[in-house]
Amino acid sequence: MKVKVGINGYGTIGKRVAWAVNRQEDLEIVGVTKTRPSYEASSALREGLQLYAAHQEDAENFQNAGITTNGTLDDLLGRVDLMVDCTPGGVGERYKPLYDKAGVKSIFQGGEGHELTGISFNALANYHEAWGAPSVRVVSCNTTGLVRTLFPLQQSFGIQKVFASLVRRGADPADKKGAALNALEPSLKLPTHHGPDVRTVMQGLDIQTMAVMAPTTLMHLHCVVVELKEKVSEKEVLEAWSSAPRVRIVSGKEGIKNTGQVMELAKDLGRPRGDLMDIAVWKEGVRVVDSTLYYYQAIHQESDVVPENVDCIRSMMKLEKDNLASIERTDLAIGLR
Ligand code: NAD
Repeated sequence: MKVKVGINGYGTIGKRVAWAVNRQEDLEIVGVTKTRPSYEASSALREGLQLYAAHQEDAENFQNAGITTNGTLDDLLGRVDLMVDCTPGGVGERYKPLYDKAGVKSIFQGGEGHELTGISFNALANYHEAWGAPSVRVVSCNTTGLVRTLFPLQQSFGIQKVFASLVRRGADPADKKGAALNALEPSLKLPTHHGPDVRTVMQGLDIQTMAVMAPTTLMHLHCVVVELKEKVSEKEVLEAWSSAPRVRIVSGKEGIKNTGQVMELAKDLGRPRGDLMDIAVWKEGVRVVDSTLYYYQAIHQESDVVPENVDCIRSMMKLEKDNLASIERTDLAIGLR
């Protein structure tokens, strides 16, 4: 019997999570919610998904637009084991009492605070913490990116201290909101919240961060400096990442010099929607001086958290004890390896 999953909020993250969940042999999407009869509602139906109105008062709008729904969120809650909340940041917390009342497990995204669930998740770093839990938050795209490369370093060499500068994309490609068109905007509240957010999954890690918002929509770019506990070579660092899941080494020498070219690679690899769910690290940008490591990485904000949501479901539903086995099952099913 497959675990029955619902998605509340079928937007940038929700539609990708729905796609990835439906490709797993042990999970199925029972339905997704929309607030309005938009093109995404029609795409959901085209993908064979069952549509539910987020609120009773939305149902009429769907009817008037000639779009068939299977009921409302309340109906969907009666038909699922777990709800993945992909509503905009800060909205998810308003739904938690509803999920709890229905006795349905829930996953939230990085736009919600850690306090909402008390458990924040990354499949590599703390899969076991979500084991059987009623409610878990998958950390944000930036935090996921930092953890994907820092955790293997910590495992292989030990970390004294991390400093990271984040160049953040100003908006997602389809957004009408976001950064100024021709200006860089530094985060003035320092150090930024990204360091503490990494510590929700890598407890005790000494990490500080700064961030600048840039007028680009493709990816985030991180400049990371790590004081390691031992002297290592660049080759050893690259080897640690090569054997880590969801990290892809790219090469400037082979023509991948910027985030546009990274995204072009994702398209050439035939990745659905042109997404790059793994974190791209530049081979030639890895430098070690004594025990200080410097590197650059690029994060596709729209998709890196997607496989993490799948693994989070497996841990919460106690479907797979071993995190690496879950990661492998997820990645094989969605063509990441
Ligand atoms: P989005 O705006 O693209 O999608 C949100 C969806 O929720 C939309 O379909 C919207 O119609 C729907 N929605 C809005 N209000 C709702 C309500 N009251 N009830 C039900 N549905 C409602 O947002 P997103 O980018 O997919 O972000 C979702 C979550 O994922 C946020 O917590 C965000 O911080 C997090 N996240 C976003 C990114 C990213 O870069 N886009 C990356 C990682 C995590």
